[in-house]
Formats: sequence, structure tokens, C-alpha cells
Amino acid sequence: MDKEHVREVDPAVADALAGERERQEETLAMIASENYASEAVIEAQGSALTNKYAEGYPGARYYAGCEYADDVEELAIERATELWGAEHVNVQPHSGTQANQAVYYAMIEPGDKILSLDLTHGGHLSHGHQANFTGQLYEVEQYQVDPETGYLDYEGLREMAESFDPDIIVSGYSAYPREVEWERIQEAADAVDAYHLADIAHITGLVAADVHSSPVGIADFVTGSTHKTIRAGRGGIVMCDEEYADAIDKAVFPGGQGGPLMHNIAGKAVGFKEALQPEFEEYAQQVVDNAETLAETLSDHGLELVSGGTDNHLVLVDLRESHPDLTGGDAEDALAAANVVLNANTVPGETRSAFNPSGIRIGTAGITTRGFDEEATAEVADLIYEVVDNHDDSSVIYEVGERIEELCSEYPVYE
Ligand SMILES: *Cc1c(COP(=O)(O)O)cnc(C)c1O
Repeated sequence: MDKEHVREVDPAVADALAGERERQEETLAMIASENYASEAVIEAQGSALTNKYAEGYPGARYYAGCEYADDVEELAIERATELWGAEHVNVQPHSGTQANQAVYYAMIEPGDKILSLDLTHGGHLSHGHQANFTGQLYEVEQYQVDPETGYLDYEGLREMAESFDPDIIVSGYSAYPREVEWERIQEAADAVDAYHLADIAHITGLVAADVHSSPVGIADFVTGSTHKTIRAGRGGIVMCDEEYADAIDKAVFPGGQGGPLMHNIAGKAVGFKEALQPEFEEYAQQVVDNAETLAETLSDHGLELVSGGTDNHLVLVDLRESHPDLTGGDAEDALAAANVVLNANTVPGETRSAFNPSGIRIGTAGITTRGFDEEATAEVADLIYEVVDNHDDSSVIYEVGERIEELCSEYPVYE
């Protein structure tokens, strides 16, 4: 499907847009943070709402002409409330990172302390990495996963909290394949009188569908991205109890942002409506079932998985044992050449660098949207293993690439 108006004005961009659409059809999106939004979500995001300034909140805007913007934002809030059950929701953050920024900005001062998971153990840049504003404005210490089991070290976290005395403890991760025990982190936060921010960016959809436990009602703040497992329009969201509603709203706007991206909020509203349908629960369960199949199949081939498996939508492979000469970056390249798009990732106890780490992270949210079941996922896992094990063999890569392309046309993203 070509964008005829873009083509008329700007053929170069039209070519790139058409190329991207084709790339998405003909390759498997197995980057764990990605998914395929519906045509309805994409249409909402590509709407005339992009023109509208709607600084403020529904019913209290700084500009005239916001009646439809209000409708859209109210619908997004209403649906998010139904999906996750928080007392207060702000759907304006431009991204997950800006949702986190709003919480820090609302609740702590520069120089205050954040305790969060090490990036190489599955954390996120916006949780205190030195390359991010959080690492520069705040004092940060980081907890880790247990090096033996790959599971979060809740005891260690508690001990660190007691010695470091943080103002905020951050939970919620980018590359952690196991269910998070929110209560145990909350206990550590209570013990030192710290706020608890649970960043569910990756697992928003799993939490909404109840296939992963929810931190809502446990943590003080729950943030997320709206384009990962929940599959709505691109952006972020903040949820909290009523007592923090005002502080959070002010921290999002005017604290950290100007006008909301109303077209993206429309995409959020539409995606949230889709996620409220009974089919979405089946989808989320299938995402987890597929990840389990992926983990089992890769394990059976002898690949080492961080934590030995998965409870959610992602699998983290540590290549060091089985393929000591293969870096995550080279595995990523070989798989991309075979039409499987995923990313190299650090693993706990990383011995290489963040630019060329020892692992690959593989997610099932995208392929499940395409309709893959366990059987089809097992075949993909076999094909991934073949490429990993024959990463220098261009004929194997070519053959696997052909088969992946066939699977892609069997399971189209868009009609
Ligand atoms: C993806 C992610 C984010 C941020 O998402 P953006 O929308 O890219 O800013 C925040 N936290 C975690 C844990 C994530 O995985």
C-alpha cells in the first residue's frame, strides 16, 4: 500500500516508507520491544490530530478548538484505566523514557538517590545510566540478578536499599525474562521509606491481559511504553494513586513537555480499545506460550538461556558457553541476513562490551501478532539455531532466509 500524497510530494520519503513496509512484511520482528500495530492504530496516528495544539488536559486546555482532542484523550484515559486499574492515568508522555522522567521530576530533587537494576543485567538507560540524564542528575546505585540463577536477587536488593537509603527504587526491565515479584521490591522500598517506580514498558500487554502479575496497587508509580506488548500507538504512560495525580500531571506538562502528540494519543486510544477485546487475552497468552516454546527449543539445541527459560515474552541467549567465538553482534548480523531481526544484548556478568555483547535477546510479541502458534514458533527456533550454529556458512543463511520469507508470506502482517 503506497502513500499516494507522500509519493507526489516526496518520492524519496515515499520510497523509504514503502521499503519499510515491505521490510516488515518480509522479515520477522523479533526485537523484544517491537510489535506490529494494527492498520487502525496506524491510521489514527497518521491523522489530522497532528495539527492540533492541546497543551493542558481534557477540559482545561490552553488553546481553543480542543473538543475532539478532549474526546480522544478522555477515551485513552478511560480505556487505560480499564486495562490496568490505576486510580490516575496520564497518557501524554511522548515516550516511556519521558514517562519515567515525569516521575523523577515530580518526586525527587537533583542529587537524590535512585536504586535500579544494572543495564547489563536487564535494566534501562532511563533508570540511571551515566549516558542518560538520570545518571547525571541523580546519585545512582544498581542492583543485579543472581549470577548463578539469572533471577533477580531480591535479598541483595533489600540489603543494598538498607545501606544506600535510596529515594526511589526502580523495578521493571528491558531484558529480564522472568516474572517480577513486585511485593518483594515494595517491601524493600517500605523498609527504607523510598518510592517504588515499576516500569512495565515491555510487559504492558501481558499485565493488561493478566498473564503477568500487576504492580498497580503495589508500587507508587507505574510507567510504560504503549507500543510494545500492548501494541497501541507509540508513546508512554504514567499511572499512580490519586494522591500523586497532580504532581505527575504537572511534571508531564508543563514540567517536561509542551503540547501532547494528540495523533499518537489517538493511536493509544485505538490500541487500548483493541486490547480490551477478549481476543487480546488470547493473544497475550499465546505470546507467553510461544516464548516458552522458543526457550525450550533453543535449550534442546544446547543454547544457554539466562535464567534457563522465560515467564514472559522474551528469551535471552548467552552465547559464551555454546559458541565462544560468536559475539551477539555477529549473531544479530547473520540472523538479519536470514530475515530474522533481533538484537545483540548484554548478559549478566558480561565479559565483552555493550557495543558487541555476548547475548541475543529474542521476543515473540511480533510473530504472535502475525499469527504464529507454538508449532510455527518451534520451527523459527530451529531456524534461528541453524543460523547461530552455521553463522559463517552463507548457503545455510540463504536457505534459512528463503524459508523465513515463506513463513512471512504465510503469516502476513497487513493484508
Ligand atoms: C523500552 C523501555 C523504556 C522506554 O521506552 P521509550 O519509549 O523508547 O522511551 C523504558 N523502560 C524500559 C524498561 C524499557 O524497556
